[in-house]
Amino acid sequence: MHDHLTYDQLTRATIGDCTTQELQHLGECSVCSAEVVTMNESLLGFRDAVLNWTHSQTKSAPRLVLDAAPLTPRRTLRWSLAAAAVALVMTIPIYRNAAERQRLLQEAEDTRLLEQVDLQLSRVVPGPMESLVTLLPNEKSTNDGEPR
Ligand SMILES: [Zn+2]
Repeated sequence: MHDHLTYDQLTRATIGDCTTQELQHLGECSVCSAEVVTMNESLLGFRDAVLNWTHSQTKSAPRLVLDAAPLTPRRTLRWSLAAAAVALVMTIPIYRNAAERQRLLQEAEDTRLLEQVDLQLSRVVPGPMESLVTLLPNEKSTNDGEPR
């Protein structure tokens, strides 16, 4: 070991970016390895200081977030229930429209069926009464008294 590592090499070694030769030198030289350890400790101290400062700055501001955090499962449940209620309320008109449409279709079908029954009943007249039918006023019959 001739020369110690330069400041740049020591800095790169601190973040783990060093060559095999530099790594070998660090393993053999206590002065350089002690320097790297000191730089690491400085970096860790700086990191802790930054974290502490960040925590001290954010302590007062996000009170709402800290208050809201324990209630998260309950709030999630509440919001889920509210969303489900809204979805249910929104589907009621759709269901009602479908039911109303179905009812109207059924009514039309019933009316058509009743008209068919009425038509069949009005047509089926016993043979002896056929002549009497022609005397009844009927908008479907012609004026000359002939049944349709
Ligand atoms: Zn050295």
